[in-house]
Amino acid sequence: MPDVAYLGAFDDSRRHRILNGVMPPHDELQRLASNLRWTWHRATRALFEDLAGGGWDAAHTDPVRIVDELSEDRLVAIAEDERLRGRIAALARDLDDELRSRDTWLTRSGGDTNRTVAYLSAEFGLTDRLAIYSGGLGVLAGDHLRSASDLGLPLVAVGLAYDDGYFRQVIDEHGQQHAAPASNDFAALPVEPVVDAAGDRVVVEVPNGDGPVRIQAWLVRVGRVPLYLLDTEVEGNAPHQRAITGQLYGGDQDTRLRQELVLGVGGLRLLAAVGVEPAVVHLNEGHAAFAGIERLGLHRRAGHGLDQAVAAVRDELVFTTHTPVPAGHDTFPWELASFHLQPLSDHLDVAFEGLWELATHEGVGPWNQTTLALRLAGRTNGVARLHGRVSREMWAHLWPDRPTEEVPIGHITNGVHPDAWTGPEIADVLADQLGADWSTHTDPARFDALRSVDRQRLWEAHGRARRRLVDTVRGRLAVQSTRTGAAADGAGLDPAALTIGFARRFATYKRGTLLARDVDRLAAILGDDQRPVQIVIAGKAHPADLEGQRLIAELVGLSRDPRMHGRLVFVENYDLQLAADLVAGCDVWLNTPLRPNEASGTSGMKAAMNGVLNLSTLDGWWDEAVTDLGQHAEHGFGWAIGDGHLDDDRQAQDDRDADAFYRLLAEEVVPTFHDRDALGLPQRWITMMIDAVRLLTPRFSTQRMVADYAARYGLVEHSVADGGDDHGR
Ligand SMILES: *Cc1c(COP(=O)(O)O)cnc(C)c1O
Repeated sequence: MPDVAYLGAFDDSRRHRILNGVMPPHDELQRLASNLRWTWHRATRALFEDLAGGGWDAAHTDPVRIVDELSEDRLVAIAEDERLRGRIAALARDLDDELRSRDTWLTRSGGDTNRTVAYLSAEFGLTDRLAIYSGGLGVLAGDHLRSASDLGLPLVAVGLAYDDGYFRQVIDEHGQQHAAPASNDFAALPVEPVVDAAGDRVVVEVPNGDGPVRIQAWLVRVGRVPLYLLDTEVEGNAPHQRAITGQLYGGDQDTRLRQELVLGVGGLRLLAAVGVEPAVVHLNEGHAAFAGIERLGLHRRAGHGLDQAVAAVRDELVFTTHTPVPAGHDTFPWELASFHLQPLSDHLDVAFEGLWELATHEGVGPWNQTTLALRLAGRTNGVARLHGRVSREMWAHLWPDRPTEEVPIGHITNGVHPDAWTGPEIADVLADQLGADWSTHTDPARFDALRSVDRQRLWEAHGRARRRLVDTVRGRLAVQSTRTGAAADGAGLDPAALTIGFARRFATYKRGTLLARDVDRLAAILGDDQRPVQIVIAGKAHPADLEGQRLIAELVGLSRDPRMHGRLVFVENYDLQLAADLVAGCDVWLNTPLRPNEASGTSGMKAAMNGVLNLSTLDGWWDEAVTDLGQHAEHGFGWAIGDGHLDDDRQAQDDRDADAFYRLLAEEVVPTFHDRDALGLPQRWITMMIDAVRLLTPRFSTQRMVADYAARYGLVEHSVADGGDDHGR
């Protein structure tokens, strides 16, 4: 260690410089804490967990605060503790090396490191402390940045700096959901103000119908990837303009349109102001579609006619559409769109009607952001194979002269980041068996070594993850029951029981109460003391979704039904931390969407990487997993509910799927889990676990997904990984 010498004598000036963050270890800790690499770099995360002691919990996973709160004596003690000091120095060096390194997947693949990609998304799920995500879309965007950093992509991300994130869910004694604010205090978060060379805040302007809005930005470091968050809480803005970035998906249509102008137009202007010139702009969902209009403006000013400009923009834009559910596509009426876009169309020297044509089908309103993005992006994809097909059908009317199969929407199946989502217990086993860099592998053959893993060790590691989950759930339920007075304290939970997880947004199509369609059948399964089974449920409903909230209340009510024996529990406030605990500690991950509404789904991928077996209808990613990889598993790696056949009668469909669920549970899942050998090991189950990790991790990792996108961005010739697009550009 080069700088050990200074540890010798501890004079006052050294003490002073350590405490002020000028010298190690304080400056190193600050660097490690302020880069969100800790959210997927295990050793860094473990360091902060150790430094926090008991203070590391779901609500406060915040290294910046942990470092801020280290006492002076503690800091000096750390400086004098050679081992701890060495550990910190090594991690800081590792981070610095990674940030400087030119030896990345991209350079090794002969890729283009100068072709900067701007990645625009309305949400990013990276840490619960940065409450700028609501669900799957944000989590996917967060994992995209993590893998872009790992692979060395020249990618710069842009999002919005909401004062209030989605919301914190509180369940009252009646099972009613209440939305408590989830506020972001940017002054106290791991973000830095974006300033120019003179140290002044960089401010850009975006035109709205009632005048320009001023925008400043905050920088979040996500490994090598910079994420700029745009903020309209700027001097000179009127109160209603300051409120634009007030709340994630908050406010009315007017606010939503203004937010999207900030994201799409403001995002590119901010990047230009800080000297970033993207060659490719990736619109993560239609929220960012106005970026296409900003790019049109650039080409218009270079002297191109509108058609020529559109052709030029199509070369630059990549668009990912994320949902077949109509409500997921932003639309705006003529009055609103023309009011806010008029100044931009003047600027482009294009009549507003010209833009309206681009964002509608044959001029019939409303303005549709997905339509606009489909027209302006030359490369468009859905997020799973089935979703690609559904999207081609859904948007075929925009290409009336083409057969549906030739609608130019392909697919890149989603993934999740293996290091961010595997629990430490299983990750240790995988690292020992596959090598420390296992999570970066996308070559399926490299996972075959799992076949010879120590089966008992794997099972015991998973058992520790399950126990940790049960402890976490009991802790959360204790807080809930103290508040509500309801006796839902988790006493009925058993760390050895077959544990089924169901956690997701309570959107109607996900059918959150399918599992309770026949309460007597469910009660019979949960009431078997010889073969204990328990179900942990979590999830939020949108504050405006009363039906979703009713489903939550129904499940909370069921959790108090004595027939459930305390073995069905509802844990409030599903967030990233709870998700991580659940996908690592459950045995079975339940998913019951009504096909084909779940574009991909990603929580089941997180579960699979932890050796958790999916029990799911054939929708989204699971349809693809079962179809493509099922035959390579000795006894399967989970179960399909139903055969993918669709019934026109929704009630009949629900009855059939619920029946299949209970039958699978009673006849296959429970018996397999409880079939133990002399050592108490469920051998057949363990084989399924191994095959889940072995076959599904390489295919459904964001390392594979981002490698596929790198090809779409034109950074590499072909995707190196399997599972890429099956369909044109
Ligand atoms: C992964 C994740 C999601 C998305 O999961 P789906 O399977 O798409 O429902 C949503 N919320 C959180 C907190 C997650 O971690």
